[in-house]
Amino acid sequence: MKLERKDVLFVVGVSIVYCSLSAGFSLLGTILPDRMVLLNPIEHGSLNLKEIAGHFIFGAVAGIVTLRIKYILLSGLLAVLIDSDHLVGLLHMEGIPRMGHSITFAILSTVVLMLVFYRKDYRLGAIAATSVLTHISYDMFDGGFGFPIFTPFVNKIIELPRTDWLAFEIAAIVIMGIVSVMSTRKELNKQISP
Ligand SMILES: [Zn+2]
Repeated sequence: MKLERKDVLFVVGVSIVYCSLSAGFSLLGTILPDRMVLLNPIEHGSLNLKEIAGHFIFGAVAGIVTLRIKYILLSGLLAVLIDSDHLVGLLHMEGIPRMGHSITFAILSTVVLMLVFYRKDYRLGAIAATSVLTHISYDMFDGGFGFPIFTPFVNKIIELPRTDWLAFEIAAIVIMGIVSVMSTRKELNKQISP
């Protein structure tokens, strides 16, 4: 369990791409029907240290099953960076709130990260796919908001019951666990029969 220089570069690289992706995706909301005036997240107090730490912990906890520091770090960081979709609110533009909190963003970010970085890094794919789950899990735990889960196809804000936070976190841990076990098996097989 150690972090080499190339792992640090990997974590930073993935984080930058993911952060830009979430911010870029939020801009799509400015041209969608049903857009609305968004609250500035800083004035509104929804971007603060407690929120950042909470998202990081919920993400990193799910990442522990990978048993690798770089993936645990990434799981925490990506869960925080989804909130770059606050960009539209910061710019005082009309848009759809919380565009990154959606299935479409989960799929899009998984595909883009795997194409940009390693196509065969299934753990990275699983982290990208599940960070929306761990992120929403903390948001619900913290207050129970609604999210545009099916945007850009259905732009309704869907309210989820607050008690479901645990189901989202467990789902993320299970997905990450299955992908990790499968990846480790593959790597072991490769070592045995090169
Ligand atoms: Zn959020």
